[in-house]
Amino acid sequence: DVPKIFVITPTYARLVQKAELTRLSHTFLHVPQLHWIVVEDAPQPTPLVTDFLAASGLTYTHLHKLTPKDRKLQEGDPSWLKPRGAEQRNEGLRWLREMGAAAKGKEAAGLEEAVVYFADDDNTYSLQLFEEMRYTYRVSVWPVGLVGGMKFERPVVEDGKVVRFHTGWRPNRPFPIDMAGFAVSLRLVLTNPQARFDGDAQMGFLESSFLQNLVTMDDLEPKADLCTKVLVWHTRTEKPKMKREDALQKQGLGSDPDVEV
Ligand code: UDP
Ligand code: MN
Repeated sequence: DVPKIFVITPTYARLVQKAELTRLSHTFLHVPQLHWIVVEDAPQPTPLVTDFLAASGLTYTHLHKLTPKDRKLQEGDPSWLKPRGAEQRNEGLRWLREMGAAAKGKEAAGLEEAVVYFADDDNTYSLQLFEEMRYTYRVSVWPVGLVGGMKFERPVVEDGKVVRFHTGWRPNRPFPIDMAGFAVSLRLVLTNPQARFDGDAQMGFLESSFLQNLVTMDDLEPKADLCTKVLVWHTRTEKPKMKREDALQKQGLGSDPDVEV
């Protein structure tokens, strides 16, 4: 069998959630040996995600971890104020470590080559991306499109090594690389139990807070034709307008709340 890919996705309830998860699941259904770890930002698993996953046809683990109120972005806060999804990604890592510690024999052997990827629910992923990351010794890296106010950001490769990063902002961060731009070997996650995302990290330092405890720039494995191809896009979904819904609701004519959207 080819190495397994564990994909950790933080997700939270909002109008577009089911649409995002549908799109994502349809990508993942085309990827062999993918195990989806969905971590809801919720006090308990929601029926929407529970039913969705059961019908998805994917191999999955359904977790939940509520972001504490003081860590959560409030309505009207600028989007860069606090990192999103940090607690949920850490919960995914916790589950992987627990699973890794309990695995025995053939199952444990199968995990030695596995890789971990953090896939937000709103990005766009090409199928080729998963084949690029599948064989990862420590940390694989590649370009990310439509991110950071740029057409793309990417590691710059010279003589087969990452030597710096093409980014529009604070290039001297330890790892100026978007969440979608790297994958880590499960072995590295399991042998470095302290490595986690710092939910208090300042803007743009969340990825660094995790990676700096695992690798140096010298260790990075450039993928996607030496980081010359964009295979993942940091797309963001527009918040749907509910102007007419709200107006109708005032007259008692809102859309039936029993219909799941
Ligand atoms: N997310 C979450 N709780 C929140 C906000 C976001 O779990 O309160 C998840 C979201 O579903 C996504 C990830 O965290 O998978 C990153 O969030 P978002 O896409 O909003 O961040 P951005 O793309 O703006 O950096
Ligand atoms: Mn996003």
